[in-house]
Amino acid sequence: MPATVPPVTRFAPSPNGHLHLGHALSAIVAHDLARGAKGNGGGRFLLRIEDIDGPRSRPELAEEFRRDLAWLGLEWDEVPAQSTRLASYAAAAETLKARGLLYPCTCTRSEIEAAGARPGLEGLIYPGTCKHRAPDPSRPAAWRLDADKALAATGPLVWEDALAGPQAVDLAGLGDVVLVRKDLPASYHLAVTLDDAADGVTLVTRGADLFAASHVHRTLQALLGLPVPRWHHHPLLTDDTGQKLAKRRGSPALAERRAAGEDGRMLAEQLRLQHLRLGT
Ligand code: GLU
Ligand code: ZN
Repeated sequence: MPATVPPVTRFAPSPNGHLHLGHALSAIVAHDLARGAKGNGGGRFLLRIEDIDGPRSRPELAEEFRRDLAWLGLEWDEVPAQSTRLASYAAAAETLKARGLLYPCTCTRSEIEAAGARPGLEGLIYPGTCKHRAPDPSRPAAWRLDADKALAATGPLVWEDALAGPQAVDLAGLGDVVLVRKDLPASYHLAVTLDDAADGVTLVTRGADLFAASHVHRTLQALLGLPVPRWHHHPLLTDDTGQKLAKRRGSPALAERRAAGEDGRMLAEQLRLQHLRLGT
């Protein structure tokens, strides 16, 4: 893509908890890459609410997120929430099933642990228990992508991270990931890939903790004939001890700081500086 085409980026929070500093940084990075820190860039910055996390989704948080982003001084265009797009996920899953690329898996988390699954880049690597057995129709099934068949179908693939450079697709660290959950017509991987394509996102920005997921997303783009964006995985904020900042370590929610009267635009400026120190 010529550098002269301003990107379309997005911030895609899940309303299953409050936004924290790490989310603020993700939103600012995505915003600035498209719109510039002063909001005068020519790209588009999208907000998409990823609200398909079943009972963990709390729809009332979406409004809180909008207030948080406005408090940080960001401007965005909001695209439809994931809960409105379930039919498109189901259709894509059917396409992949019809090509024999998915298989049903009835394993529970404890069965996967008991089967001696190894830790991978993103939780345990599924040990393949259900790959060669007929599913028990009385048990709920998720559908997994058969990574070997996917690779055979796509051949070698490459994706491009703005910071880390070109990456050869390698699914070995992830294994056969779930694309259709037991309780939903999609998983994060399927939904986010379809949505980024539908929303015209050309630069997928998110924290480096989700780097490995892009191998799956690039594979899905190839299998489903979707346009291929570029990626920008930004370094994560850390606290004074070098630990990743996470809500479980007690970093206050943006909403809390906002309610306490803190200046959100100043906070955004501080995060921009910290981000520069981390190495863009
Ligand atoms: N909803 C996901 C999250 O909040 C989005 C991750 C992404 O940007 O792809 O972690
Ligand atoms: Zn299984």
